[in-house]
Amino acid sequence: MSNRVKLGISSCLLGWAVRYDGEHKYDGRIFASWSDDFEFVAVCPEVAIGLGVPRSPIQLVQLGESVRVRGVEDSHVDVTERLHAYGRSLVAELGEVSGYIFKARSPSCGLSDVAIHDERGSVMGEGRGVFAEHLCKVLPLLPVVDEGALEDEAQRENFLRRAGIYHHWHRVVAEGLSATRLRQFHDSYQTLLAESDETEWRRLSGLIDELTADNLKAISSRYIEELMGAVNDTIAGTSPHELL
Ligand code: SF4
Repeated sequence: MSNRVKLGISSCLLGWAVRYDGEHKYDGRIFASWSDDFEFVAVCPEVAIGLGVPRSPIQLVQLGESVRVRGVEDSHVDVTERLHAYGRSLVAELGEVSGYIFKARSPSCGLSDVAIHDERGSVMGEGRGVFAEHLCKVLPLLPVVDEGALEDEAQRENFLRRAGIYHHWHRVVAEGLSATRLRQFHDSYQTLLAESDETEWRRLSGLIDELTADNLKAISSRYIEELMGAVNDTIAGTSPHELL
């Protein structure tokens, strides 16, 4: 497995001209210095489901209890199911990535603050893009962020730290998980976790103490679920390179 941290990313953020208007959204201030340490898996769900470039824009529309992705100019166009289906088809591939950077405010890729319209086109609230929503549901441990948050140094470091930990976990699993390796993995985060959340550190240490010859699979699943839940909530501000 490569030492570089593999990240999923909305293609337009890498400079691919795939937006509805034929443009991209590359921001050199955020991404120019990342290339040596990170490997990107670029994904444009709207192009992948067959919408061309350029294309008519789409938007989130509240219909009863559900939010649909419909054409702005032609409300008969509804690509909600196609975006979900594409998300399902990508899960195996994206199961190996250690983080995902979404384009903010997109009806497909936006993590939050995406405008939701009523049927007449007026904004009535905010939500999450359908593709982003799908990925977050099926890959709940995956560290995620949008490019707006990456402009803030503390949030950028927070995301990179989380992705670094998840990458480390992928490496341990790829090399063959064992009780010894799980203990070593746990020990490598002692300082980080004990300082940021001692209660969580004790809880995770308790799980490690429960390890026997027969329960490695069950304990390791619970362990990474709890660890990623904890770090996704609590860690900020330290260089990810210390972990790689
Ligand atoms: S925001 Fe997502 S769907 Fe829109 S152009 Fe970028 S990658 Fe494609």
